[in-house]
Amino acid sequence: MKLADGLKTDLTMSQKKPVQRTCFACRQTEEKSKLLRLVVDNDGQIWPDFSAKLPSRGLYLCLQEACLMAMSDKSLYRLKRDFSPQLPQWEVLQQRIFDMLALRLQQLLNGMKRSSAVGRDAVMHQMWDKKSLLILFAADAGDAVLRQINDAVDKRALGEMKSAKHAEVMVSLLGAKALGSALGREKVSVVAFTEGNPLQKLHQICIWQQRLASLLGNNKENKVTHG
Ligand SMILES: [Zn+2]
Repeated sequence: MKLADGLKTDLTMSQKKPVQRTCFACRQTEEKSKLLRLVVDNDGQIWPDFSAKLPSRGLYLCLQEACLMAMSDKSLYRLKRDFSPQLPQWEVLQQRIFDMLALRLQQLLNGMKRSSAVGRDAVMHQMWDKKSLLILFAADAGDAVLRQINDAVDKRALGEMKSAKHAEVMVSLLGAKALGSALGREKVSVVAFTEGNPLQKLHQICIWQQRLASLLGNNKENKVTHG
């Protein structure tokens, strides 16, 4: 392909609407990148496919709150016709997705070590950077650090830094020890990330995790915090 052709393709691609897919559970259509792809293996088991590239037959789940609330074995039963009679119960699948999200989060954090600002002082320093920020607190971060950083985020949005891009604040399901170990540190109560693409993925994984966690109950949350 000639260079000019390549450019043309890039342009057409960027003008195109993002690829849409339908959630198998609630039938809502959504941008493909905002849905979790699930694949069915040869044994009829369903697994999350975070790369969205595995060659097996895929289906998509939106993991929106309303969708999750309405999920049941019955919703999965509809899939048996198209996929396999070996499909798990919703409770099993839910737990499997949750566990794999936790693993995926560890991997992502690990890969983002270099672009992270770790600890309260480093995170506060990032407030003066105009790039978009994702600030992640440990589940057991103290009130003082939460308040200080949330205040700074509010001021950043209002004050002289209002030209700065969005700063998203999230509380992770990971405790300071687990968050630290994912980042190759001792304990980390707060961390800020400024990278583009993995940032969105990280954000999405955290949101999915939280939705599933509230569905699965607090006992699971504790398991992850101490894991
Ligand atoms: Zn859905």
